[in-house]
Parts: sequence; C-alpha cells; structure tokens
Amino acid sequence: MQSNSLRILDTEVPAPKKFELQLEVQKVGICGTDRDIISGFYGEAPQGSEYLVLGHESLSRVSKVGSGVRGFKKGDLVVPTVRRKCYENCLNCKAGESDMCLTGDYSEHGIKGLHGFAREYAISDSRFVVKLPESLSDIGVLLEPLTVVEKGEAQTFRLQLARMKWLPKKALVLGAGPVGLLATAILRLRGLEVDTIATRSEDSPKAKLVKQTGARYINAMETPLNTLEKRYDIVFEITGSPSVGFEAQQLIGVNGVVCFLGIYKSQQDTGDAGKLFTDLVLGNKVFFGSVNANKTYFEKGVKDLLAIRKKWNGFLEKIITRRASYEDFEKAYSPESQEEIKTIIEFRK
Ligand SMILES: [Zn+2]
Repeated sequence: MQSNSLRILDTEVPAPKKFELQLEVQKVGICGTDRDIISGFYGEAPQGSEYLVLGHESLSRVSKVGSGVRGFKKGDLVVPTVRRKCYENCLNCKAGESDMCLTGDYSEHGIKGLHGFAREYAISDSRFVVKLPESLSDIGVLLEPLTVVEKGEAQTFRLQLARMKWLPKKALVLGAGPVGLLATAILRLRGLEVDTIATRSEDSPKAKLVKQTGARYINAMETPLNTLEKRYDIVFEITGSPSVGFEAQQLIGVNGVVCFLGIYKSQQDTGDAGKLFTDLVLGNKVFFGSVNANKTYFEKGVKDLLAIRKKWNGFLEKIITRRASYEDFEKAYSPESQEEIKTIIEFRK
C-alpha cells in the first residue's frame, strides 16, 4: 500500500451476491495492523480496485441477504471472520481452517485482497459470519481480537494434552493491550492463576482491569521479567518484543508452553540460543506461534464474551477507551496515547 494515503471515499453501496450478506456496519475496532497498513508496511487492495477499505474488527447488522443465504435475516447482529480460503483451496482451507492456510494465498477483509468493514455498508460471505445475541450490541466489536486469544488458548491445551497428562496452574501474560487483557480474562475464566505484566503503573486503567479479573498485575518497570519465578505452565507473549519473547522461554517450568501472538521486528543477538535449545529439550518445553482465527473460535468467543461480562461487570466496556465518529477518522487512526486501550469508530449508534 501507498503510505499515509488514508482518506474517506464515497463509494457505491455494495449488493450481496448469492451467498453473501450486505452488512450495515455499526462499529469497527482499530489495531496495530491498521496502523501498519496506513504506514505502508503491508495491505493489498482487491483485484481491480485502486484502494483498500480498512477494518477487520467489526460489528454489523444484516441489511440484505443473498438468494442462497441460510440462517440469517435482516437486523441480525453479526461479526464476520477476517480470512477467506486460498485460491488453491489447500488441505486446511478445505477443512474450514483458513487460519492454518498452507499456501499464504488467502485473502483477508481489510488487510489483503478484500475490502474491510470500515464503511457504512460492507459485504461478507455468509458462511464466514457468526451471529451475536442483542446483549452484545455495545461490545461485540471486541470479538475479533478475542478470537486471537481463543485460538492461542485452544491450541495450547490441544498441544499439551496430546503430549501428556497436564494440569496447568499458573499462567503469565506478557502485555496488557486489548489482546493481553482479553487473554488475562480467558485464562482466569479457565480457572488459572494469572500474572499479567506490562510497563504501566499499578493505578493505570490497564492494571485495574487486570486486577478486576483476580489476576496479579506486575509493573515491569519495578519488577523486571528476569526476577519472576521461573515456574509458569503457560506464557502468552503479546508484546511483540524479541527480547521479551526470548526471556519468556526462561519463565516456563518443566513441560511448560509459550504461545507467541505478537509480530516481531528482526533483531540480531537477542540471547543465548544454545541455552534456549538445551532448556527446551531438558524441560520438554513447547514454543509455538498462532495467527488469525477461524469461525469455530469466533463461535467460542461469543460464549466467552457473555461469560466475561457476567463475571466481571464493566471489564469489556472499559477496554474501549475511545469512540470516534468516522468523520474523525484521522484522529482515530493516529498513534494511541499512553492510557489508550482500544479505539473504535462508530458508524451508527
Ligand atoms: Zn489455504
């Protein structure tokens, strides 16, 4: 993408084809991926289009249904998944796991080859859309970032339980942005003791949200990572910092697992690879990466949004720290302030 070419365009209202839904977009969440696309690091316009509509975190209402659509009607509250199967329809895409696509030739709404949802009316294939209950009409836009956690968590347990008998007790979450906070809540929901570490003060909004779930907040400025007890069963690495990621491996105990969810800038000489590999072998440890999420994680996420809201009143609402109108797009997409957690654009109230 051309860098800094962010603008508002008047476009035609798209009409749904046979299996598609026309969506009346309610809210769109903004994340680092959007800002990276604006900076020109990646992003790819759909074929034949000179621009890409941004927006992969969204919440919409169905406004029109294509002739072949089953199970949706006008007015339904919905969230579309982001990734669509690859052109070759590889083994994993064919099985509904486009998040595990082998070819890399997939498309992603608002990122790669498909327009996103930051528009008044959008289009999605109905087979990649999940319905939400009305009670989530205010915070359902958090479903997409939550699915990143849902996949990481589900794969963590699947991996570990396929390897051995495993009863994890302690988890560490590195980072307290929207995904870190949602990971904290999910791991707490599963009954784990959770420590979440970030660089904000003890009385910051992020720290307060961590504590609301019963997790412990650690200010990394006062308590450096390398002073923590090296006995975690699960570590979720979300900071995207190579040196933090490298240190994460030293924090898990025997049979532990580290799930990497960040995007890391290339960095040489981060640490001692020999020690890392030996620790890995002698401790039966697993490091794995996880990206994107298929529809099953969106369905699971809907249930967990309801469970989180029931257990920790106001937690999800407080993750959304800024609500902008689309006319205010420049401000909304500008780099976030220190205490900001999640900015959303409201297309309709
Ligand atoms: Zn594929």
